[in-house]
This record gives sequence, C-alpha cells and structure tokens, in this order.
Amino acid sequence: MTHPPLSALSRDDLASLLEQQQAAYAELKTRGLKLDLTRGKPSAAQLDLANELLNLPRGFKDSSGTDVRNYGGLAGLTELREIFAELLWIEPEQVIAGGNSSLTMMRDCLIFLMLFGARDSDRAWGKEDRIKFICPVPGYDRHFTLLESLGIEMITVPMNDDGPDSEATAALVKNDRSIKGMWIVPTYANPAGSICSQEVAARLASMETAANDFKIFWDNAYALHHLTEEEAKSADILTLAAASGHPDRPLMFASTSKITYAGSGVAFLGASEANIAWYLGHLGNGSIGPDKVNQLRHIQFFGSAQGVRDHMAKHRAIIAPKFDEVDRVFSERLGGYAVATWNKPAGGYFVNVDVVPGTAARVIALAKDAGVALTQAGSSFPHGDDPNDQNIRIAPTMPPLDEVTAAIDAVATCVLLAAAEKLLQD
Ligand code: PMP
Repeated sequence: MTHPPLSALSRDDLASLLEQQQAAYAELKTRGLKLDLTRGKPSAAQLDLANELLNLPRGFKDSSGTDVRNYGGLAGLTELREIFAELLWIEPEQVIAGGNSSLTMMRDCLIFLMLFGARDSDRAWGKEDRIKFICPVPGYDRHFTLLESLGIEMITVPMNDDGPDSEATAALVKNDRSIKGMWIVPTYANPAGSICSQEVAARLASMETAANDFKIFWDNAYALHHLTEEEAKSADILTLAAASGHPDRPLMFASTSKITYAGSGVAFLGASEANIAWYLGHLGNGSIGPDKVNQLRHIQFFGSAQGVRDHMAKHRAIIAPKFDEVDRVFSERLGGYAVATWNKPAGGYFVNVDVVPGTAARVIALAKDAGVALTQAGSSFPHGDDPNDQNIRIAPTMPPLDEVTAAIDAVATCVLLAAAEKLLQD
C-alpha cells in the first residue's frame, strides 16, 4: 500500500493522522503484548534441527584415533577444521576449532594484542599511549562494548551496501599509527545486512597503514546464513591480504552458534599459519585443549561441508518467512509515508531500520510501553550514541511467525506516531 509522504500532509491532516495513531497505540496497550525483537537468537524450532547432537557422539575417537575425552589437541579436531576450512574458503592449516564462542576468541585476540602485541608489533598495544579502532556503523554492539572495556577508542566510518567505506578507512589509517585495527562483519552484516565486496576487501587488505601491525577483525558470523537461494560468497580476505604483502593482517572468526546450538556450538579462528601459531602460543598458557567431545559430535552430525550447507537450508525455511513478514507489514503500514527505510536482507539475522531522525529512542520507548521489546536505542553505535537518533535494529528470528506479525505491526504504529509528533513539533 502506498501512503502520501507525511511531510506533504497539511497540518490538519497531520494532526488527524496523529490522532489516529494515538488511538491505535492506546488500543495496542490494552492488548497486553509481551513480544521480544531484541537479540538475534535462533528460535526453538531452529535449535530443534540440531537435536541429534544430544545422541552424539557415537564412540569417543575421531578418525585419527584421538580419544576426545582426554586433554590435548589445542587446535581442535582435524576433520572439523577441514569442514570449516572448506566452508570459509581457507586451508585447514589456517583454521582452528575452539570453544563455544567466537566472541570469546575475539576478546582473547584483543587481550593478547594488548598484553603481548602481535608478531609484527614493536611493543604490546597496551604500552602505546592510545589505541584506536575503525568501527563501521551501524555495527555489532558487543564489538563496541568489548573495545570500550579495554579503553580502545573508536572511530566510525559508514557501513555501505558493499561493506565498510574503504576510502574513508584508507584515508584514516594511512597517517595515524595509533589506529591498530578495524571490525568488519563481511557477510550479511549485523545489523546492516550488507555484503563486503571483493573490491572493498581487496582495498582493505592492501591499503597502506601507518601501524605496521594493523589487524582486520573479520567477523564472519553469518558466512553461511543465507535467506535466499542466491548464496553470497564471502571475499577471500586471507588470500587477498597475503597477495598484497600483509598475510598477518586479517583475523577471521566464525562459529556454529547459529547453525547448531547457540550456547553449545564450536567457534573457529582463521588466519595465516604464523598468526595461528601466535594465538595458540598464548592460548596454551590457559588451556590444555578444547571440548573435543562437542567437536566430535559436530563432525558426526554434519558429516561434511555439504552437510552444513544442507542444514542451513533448513534454517532458511524456518526464518525466511519471518523476514518476509517484517517487510510485508512495514510495506503495508508505512509504505509511501517516508517515515522509515528498512532493508530486506539476503542473509543474517537482522533488519536494519532508519526512522525519522530524532525519533528512534521515542519509538523504542513507545514500543516498550506497549509490550514490545526492541534493542536499546543507539546500540549499533559506539558508546550507544546514534548521532541522528534514527537507527533501530530488528531481530525477527526468535519469536514465532504470528508474534513477528503482531510485533512489527505494533512497531509500525510507534514509528508513525513518533514521526507525526515530531513533524507537528517542528
Ligand atoms: N559476531 C556477530 C556479528 C554476531 O552477531 C554474534 C552473535 N550475535 C556473534 C559474533 C557471537 O558469536 P558467538 O556465539 O560465536 O560468540
């Protein structure tokens, strides 16, 4: 449905639209909704897809005869590394299988860098006066809170449809040796849904950096999480970096958190063999080996890389209709009013919504009072500060479909109400 742009309405028409939305909102509040669109969690139906894990592993030895019940094997089981090396387009020697969280691996890497520095560092990052990171926005809130917790300063660049603004990034890193790294979610980014193109990846891999130990934290959390049959292939950052003379620049992360069980999956680090040795060297001081029983049951559950791809198609069948529904309800309720733009991502876990500048926090507060929890205003920006108070992240995977419909309908009412209020105020 197409509505006239709100800004084209006369004051009277705008006032009557505001009244309508206030009535709709009052009605909404009587419904006693209790809906949650906050975090990108898999639904129970998605978790059920992996329940065979609870009957695995069969036996306790992997194909090389390793007894997975015992200590050892810090780099993880070879077969699992091989499966994910194929899926991430890297060599098995360039990938290790760890514990249940890639975010923990990211934090470990940062802490090792702060305390000890990288192989190519002059000194530990923590000994520098200041450390800065490039943060494409909107981005993943935990990336930002992690940096904040370590006192690392954040410089934002725009996240475009083809990945981070590489020209802006290249200009910043060229002359500032305190900029030591950057975040990227290259495939179906959280929350923008964008896919980093080969060209952007090549630019980031080859750009001149004042810091000789600059690191790209390539967080490929959604590498395999396609919502359409057209499956995006992530740019091959390790090869691009090696080819341009910076083999140790990228650190790649992935996990099965949104493939099998979010709390009991397996996380992966991909990097040059030298970086893998660097990481394991530090990790070995605090671990004798990962949970290989969990790794073995993942090997048996998937069977192969194709087994993982087939499994992801089952996820798609469950969650793609929810993303379609977000788009349908927003289009129907908001289409034409020009009070919001939203993306229809081809993968990942989020819909990125931009509302009328200055109204995002109001929309989120209205939704909360009507029983619909949305991610906190500004959460996709460093320090929770969305300079335009405009961005809202919607996570539709967890609730059942009928709840997604109800929640998005309620959010649409809040978006319209806040926009009408703002326009009348201005
Ligand atoms: N990176 C991104 C971009 C994410 O969105 C998430 C989950 N929300 C994670 C990492 C967390 O991954 P893990 O469960 O492997 O720690």
